[in-house]
Amino acid sequence: MARVYNFSAGPSCIFEEVLEEASSQMLEYGDSGMSVMEMSHRSDHFEEIINRCESSLKSLMMIPDNYEVLFLQGGASLQFCMIPMNLLYKGSADVIHTGIWTEKAIKELNRLGKAEVIASSEDKTFTYIPKIDESMINDTADYLYICQNNTIFGTRYAELPITKGKPLVADLSSCILSEPVDVSKYGIIFAGAQKNMGIAGLTTVIIRKDLIEDRKNIPSMLSYKVMADNKSMYNTPPTYAIYICDLVLNHITRKIGGLAEMEKKNREKADILYTYLDSSSLFKNPVNKEDRSLMNVTFVTGDENTDKDFIVKAEEEGFVNLKGHRLVGGMRASIYNAMSLEGVKSLVSFMSEYERNK
Ligand SMILES: *Cc1c(COP(=O)(O)O)cnc(C)c1O
Repeated sequence: MARVYNFSAGPSCIFEEVLEEASSQMLEYGDSGMSVMEMSHRSDHFEEIINRCESSLKSLMMIPDNYEVLFLQGGASLQFCMIPMNLLYKGSADVIHTGIWTEKAIKELNRLGKAEVIASSEDKTFTYIPKIDESMINDTADYLYICQNNTIFGTRYAELPITKGKPLVADLSSCILSEPVDVSKYGIIFAGAQKNMGIAGLTTVIIRKDLIEDRKNIPSMLSYKVMADNKSMYNTPPTYAIYICDLVLNHITRKIGGLAEMEKKNREKADILYTYLDSSSLFKNPVNKEDRSLMNVTFVTGDENTDKDFIVKAEEEGFVNLKGHRLVGGMRASIYNAMSLEGVKSLVSFMSEYERNK
């Protein structure tokens, strides 16, 4: 077996210890006589898994009691419409536009109401996070929407925007669990699991309870109220993805030592990569320094053929999935929680060697 350094933006690398544990329980979970994949979601064993997953997430993220944790399906993308369906009353939401993921959220919002784009970084190909002040927030907006870490362009909010009392709705798909966050500052946090929480198929929604309303015109499967009342088991939840998420949470809590420790590791990895990029005469990171993502590091050489050649050579050496998003080009190294320090150091030494030989 030769495991590679996988820099995929998602689905992405998973802690090897988690994969090993899942593998050791593949044929039988506990004394259940069966795999988690074969279990009824109403069984005691699965109840134990989903309850532990929820309580681990609550303690790891220090989620206050006035928030509900939901384990849903449909990807982060389903939230682009589920959020407006459940939260629009006056009919519009303010959005800070920072890339392709907010563009998709805006598109869905405009099907159901109106997206008011109050700031955008499109003028500079989304290489920075626009600043807003109170005067930009519309009194009529039902909430303020952001994407906290922009997976494709490699930017992130180092500080949350002011909200003028509006609920802050944030897409944390590519940064959840990478550092501590103050959950009480948000109305909704949502994230697809396949970047930092485990595998595809699960979407976690952390929602302030007062935002959960019984809205009669919403299909049951798209209603936060129905999902909350049924403890995320209105229908069969993504059982195996919830099981893997539980293992990931357990690993971060017990082996890493919590989110502050996780952040330390992530900062160290990102620092190594950005420090190299800033000193390189071949590779460049185009992002505004204070807005740089800790999870997705983009870089270019300025020459498409060199980019292509680099990606091919890197792959031969076991550094895979370094190609940038098809809409952006260049390269991107996604260095989520499960990417090791050693992986990042090895990548940087490969890049310096490539640069020397150029
Ligand atoms: C990956 C990603 C999504 C889309 O997630 P799906 O689960 O594929 O719908 C949305 N937002 C961000 C920030 C992402 O990184």
